[in-house]
Amino acid sequence: MTKKLQSIRGIHDGLPSEVAKWRKIEDVARRVFSSHAVSEVRLPILEPTELFVRSVGEETDIVSKEMYAFKDQGSGNICLRPEGTAGAVRAYLQAGLTRSGIQRWFYMGPMFRRERPQKGRLRQFQQIGTEWIGVSGPVADAEILAMAQHFLDALDIQMVRLEINSLGCAACRPAYRDALITHLNACSEHLCKTCHERIENNPMRVLDCKNESCQAQSADAPEMLAHLCSDCDTHFSNLKESLNALDVPYKVNPRIVRGLDYYNRTAFEFITEQLGAQGTVLAGGRYDGLVESLGGPATTCIGFAAGMERLAMLMPDIKTQTVDVVAIALGDLALPYSLKIAEQLRREGLSVVHAGGGASKRQFKLADREGARFVAIIGSNEVEHGLISLKNLATGEQTSCSIKQGIALLKIS
Ligand SMILES: [Zn+2]
Ligand SMILES: [Zn+2]
Repeated sequence: MTKKLQSIRGIHDGLPSEVAKWRKIEDVARRVFSSHAVSEVRLPILEPTELFVRSVGEETDIVSKEMYAFKDQGSGNICLRPEGTAGAVRAYLQAGLTRSGIQRWFYMGPMFRRERPQKGRLRQFQQIGTEWIGVSGPVADAEILAMAQHFLDALDIQMVRLEINSLGCAACRPAYRDALITHLNACSEHLCKTCHERIENNPMRVLDCKNESCQAQSADAPEMLAHLCSDCDTHFSNLKESLNALDVPYKVNPRIVRGLDYYNRTAFEFITEQLGAQGTVLAGGRYDGLVESLGGPATTCIGFAAGMERLAMLMPDIKTQTVDVVAIALGDLALPYSLKIAEQLRREGLSVVHAGGGASKRQFKLADREGARFVAIIGSNEVEHGLISLKNLATGEQTSCSIKQGIALLKIS
């Protein structure tokens, strides 16, 4: 027997029941995001590898271990995008939009990371994200969080909590970083191997290490919030006030960090306990330094992203495609007329499956299998008088009427 091929490890198929949820996520995103004047962009899946080396950074796991990067037939080093923000900023700069005022964008599509596959973590995953380029004040931060909350509410995703932090800025972070490094060096023998390496190049990431010993050591580590300069402190206070005004509940969590230098001030995560271990559902923050690091002028930005597969796991099930009518032709002479009727009903917006004619028993069985609401039974009497006979499969009720009346009946029931 020929061996069946499997999909690549960590890459899965979107079958109808899951795609129904993805479509709902997409529809809700379009509706909610457009209420904040956010426009959709569609950006390439293939990008130059250097884009992520320069933005996400060579020393990160994403770039050093998890990228699908290769040489194309020409000479370029290209990769499958591991995230959406860098590509959005590249597109913004490439389109020459730096003098065009605020850009509010959202995107959705597949991202690729060669991580160890586990529940809710795939190597090809779909992300939905938004980037607000050119916004600087705490009001924008509060509003993007209100938009995220609205988005999750509209998806009926519950038991998710918002945690926020401030990562400071170029003025106040260096001194904090020094204080943190001093603390970590003093307890370095108790840190995990990864955190050992992080002390010099990425000390803040030690704060969100999941290793128990690292958590114990960092419990009394200095916190960024106690080291904010007055501008950052005001920004964070105003953000909290605006969130209160917007009735968006939140908790301050000093352990929300980002590994990269271009992230600053507001960082946030929506977290759930419903996926087994504590999981992040949606995460984002300010990245005022990224546009500049990709060759543009200093530009203040904030954004967030969420994995669609994770969102889908938290959503209630959705009915997949339903069949309104199965058309059944009794006798060969009724077949042409039944085909026409089926097509006519479809053009009225109804979902119709034609049972293909032949033995009536088989056709009724098929209607059952399809879970149809109605069968349209077309025999010689219907053909002769231009009628349609509809049987409601839930109630067993049957009516014979004109096509027009039939359409009306199908639409109201
Ligand atoms: Zn600051
Ligand atoms: Zn660690």
